Amino acid sequence: DAKVSGKARTSVFDDAMQSDVDARLSVRSALGDAVRGGQLRLHYQPLVSLADGRVLGAEALVRWQRPGHGLLAPDAFVPVAEETALITEVDRWVVGEAVRRAAGWCRAGGSVAVNLSPRSLEGDAVLDALSSALHRWRVPARSVVLEITETGVMSTSGAADRVLAGLLDLGAVLSVDDFGVGHSSLARLRRTRAQVLKVDRSLVADVDRDDASRSVVAAVVAMAHALGMVVVAEGVERAAQADVLRAVRCDQAQGWFFGRPAEPEGLDPVFAHPAVSRAGAWV
Ligand code: C2E
Ligand code: MG
Ligand code: MG
Ligand code: MG
Repeated sequence: DAKVSGKARTSVFDDAMQSDVDARLSVRSALGDAVRGGQLRLHYQPLVSLADGRVLGAEALVRWQRPGHGLLAPDAFVPVAEETALITEVDRWVVGEAVRRAAGWCRAGGSVAVNLSPRSLEGDAVLDALSSALHRWRVPARSVVLEITETGVMSTSGAADRVLAGLLDLGAVLSVDDFGVGHSSLARLRRTRAQVLKVDRSLVADVDRDDASRSVVAAVVAMAHALGMVVVAEGVERAAQADVLRAVRCDQAQGWFFGRPAEPEGLDPVFAHPAVSRAGAWV
């Protein structure tokens, strides 16, 4: 603050930096209470089969109903939480809540995906949360998908690798999120036990408007299939994108064209009737 520091005036740049620091500190101190105080919410976005348009599952996306600030998107607090152990609290809560809320969908053959930060795998909290939620809500482990970004999967420590192995030994499915923006080698990708690859929105953005973009996505799909993986396209906003993705044999898609992230109630009718073949989509 200009008065405290004794400076005649601060530049706009300094003020902006200071308010950014203030905002991060404020998020950091409020977020712990938010997790314990029930201020986190989950919205769910459908994943659909490109072949026939069926909804196969949903991704849980965290929001923070922060008093006085409205409903905050993850970008406003997940990066700050990732700087501290708070992200583990967030991810542990998300795993328990998503399995509880989606239990009926999963028992009907659907799947639920959660996002995990690499830092959340440094201890056993998430593993314990998943294990007890699966038992408590009688959910088959193969219907729970763990999304970890390409960069995250490639950068885990030895301890995190052991926790991840434990999660996969339970039967959960590993999905590599935001693929195409990091720099993983084919060899590294093969060594992971990932069964699903999610193509980043930036690669999908122009598939219907640009031949080179279409070729890149076609190559990624072919590579993933060669590795035995199911491919999901992120950020599909137009029918024309879906048409191209279907033509290059991408398996599944997610995006505003098919459904925005929303309260879970809208998906209950979708999974009201068992469809045993749904979960089979992952294997
Ligand atoms: P993500 O896992 O890649 O999730 C996809 C993001 O793209 C979501 O943003 C979603 O709302 C948005 N999206 C979906 N369809 C479209 C579309 O057609 N067009 C556009 N422009 N955007 C679309 P959101 O919900 O803001 O989440 C952002 C990121 O925050 C997620 O990216 C994920 O990395 C992270 N995140 C979300 N929930 C959690 C969580 O529970 N734990 C952790 N550690 N990270 C989370
Ligand atoms: Mg994700
Ligand atoms: Mg993603
Ligand atoms: Mg993302």
